[in-house]
Amino acid sequence: MRRHFERGTAVFDCEVCGRKARNTSDQYQRRVCSQCNEIGEIENGISDNNLTGAELAQAEKRIAKLRAELKRIANRSKGRG
Ligand SMILES: [Zn+2]
Repeated sequence: MRRHFERGTAVFDCEVCGRKARNTSDQYQRRVCSQCNEIGEIENGISDNNLTGAELAQAEKRIAKLRAELKRIANRSKGRG
């Protein structure tokens, strides 16, 4: 029997959504999952670049998609049982 276990990858609870996440890259110093990390980056980008119009709409669309993804993950992990 062989167990798949990756050494050196720290698992933590995401500070934003609370789900278990693994640090795959050097994402800031904060412990956030990749979705929350990307949402944060996009939100920063919106305010840093003062996005408007189509660019803003696109950024918000991307955030909504990531949030929906998180919701789906959360529902899946608590749903049945
Ligand atoms: Zn998260």
